[in-house]
Amino acid sequence: MRVLIRGAGVAGLTAAHELLARGAEVTIIESAAGFTGAASWYAGGMLAPWCERESAEETVLTQGIGAADWWEAALPAGSVHRNGTLVVAQPRDGAELKRFASRTSGFRSLDAEQIAALEPALAGRFRQALFFPQEAHLDPRRALSALRQGLAVRGAAFADGDMDERGFALTVDCTGASRIGGIDGLRGVRGEMAYLQTDEVTLSRPVRMLHPRIPLYIVPRGGGLFMCGATMIESDDAGPITTRSLMELLNAAYALHPAFAEARLVETGTGVRPAFADNLPRASRRENTITVNGLYRHGFLLSPAMAGEVAALALGEEIPRGDIR
Ligand SMILES: Cc1cc2nc3c(=O)[nH]c(=O)nc-3n(C[C@H](O)[C@H](O)[C@H](O)COP(=O)(O)OP(=O)(O)OC[C@H]3O[C@@H](n4cnc5c(N)ncnc54)[C@H](O)[C@@H]3O)c2cc1C
Repeated sequence: MRVLIRGAGVAGLTAAHELLARGAEVTIIESAAGFTGAASWYAGGMLAPWCERESAEETVLTQGIGAADWWEAALPAGSVHRNGTLVVAQPRDGAELKRFASRTSGFRSLDAEQIAALEPALAGRFRQALFFPQEAHLDPRRALSALRQGLAVRGAAFADGDMDERGFALTVDCTGASRIGGIDGLRGVRGEMAYLQTDEVTLSRPVRMLHPRIPLYIVPRGGGLFMCGATMIESDDAGPITTRSLMELLNAAYALHPAFAEARLVETGTGVRPAFADNLPRASRRENTITVNGLYRHGFLLSPAMAGEVAALALGEEIPRGDIR
């Protein structure tokens, strides 16, 4: 079966991977240069279904649990880091930690000594933390590039711009936030982030710092590079980061570790997360078009499950469980 996939973000590439695995002939078209038009390019790359349960439905946990295995199988060895997630809060924000613990599972409570053993850079900085040992993370930019390269090696065709759909048995629309206004109920949730570079701090896993107003996470990318994110603003404005957001992110990074004050600010960026009202993704088929969208803040976490759904819809298989609409 010849399939045309529109959009080479995480939804499009994971769908291509699953369709190729089932013997489809896949062509992927992308309207922007490189990955610059994709929200996926700006993601943290956290595969954190237990932490996400704090604000997400149970289905995000059940559908996201297999994501780290999926990515590990799809990417070169060493791409997925299974070091867990550390969640901390300043002593004055202890109530935030309690609230987070009450809404999640799959964690161990750590004291100051245990925090220092896990992340020596944070020794003496926090009295209490939650550790989610089963969580993982990856570098979205390396993952997208490797996935794209692997697809090309396996025979997928890539093209820029538009293409005539005639000649394809099926189109899969994975164009993310560009469909806001075109798909009922789809909205944008703006996420701003910053890349910081410093040799003064070493972290082995994503660290989330809870705060009543400005929660922060920092994801280590290796080589002294850290992704620091991210705002959650109800807007589909993809314009540059605002001064306020940048100040808040940097203040929070400084509160996590003062050495971030001397870090180099090497990049800032903004991605628009496509989301439905329930913040759950949907894959649906209408005649010869399958649409997958609404991955919200769970593109890397839930796209493997969604790609399975797309393949099932494409090839008429039974859809795996009905959790995600
Ligand atoms: C700051 C930030 C942090 C995040 N952190 C995480 C995280 O830690 N973990 C996680 O799981 N998720 C995270 N996310 C969420 C994740 O990035 C999104 O859910 C995901 O990127 C959505 O993927 P998508 O493929 O649907 O859309 P996109 O990545 O936006 O891809 C859509 C693609 O379609 C292309 N396109 C548009 N129109 C057309 C057209 N007509 N023809 C062809 N191509 C077209 C666009 O150029 C784009 O490349 C984060 C997001 C942001 C912004």
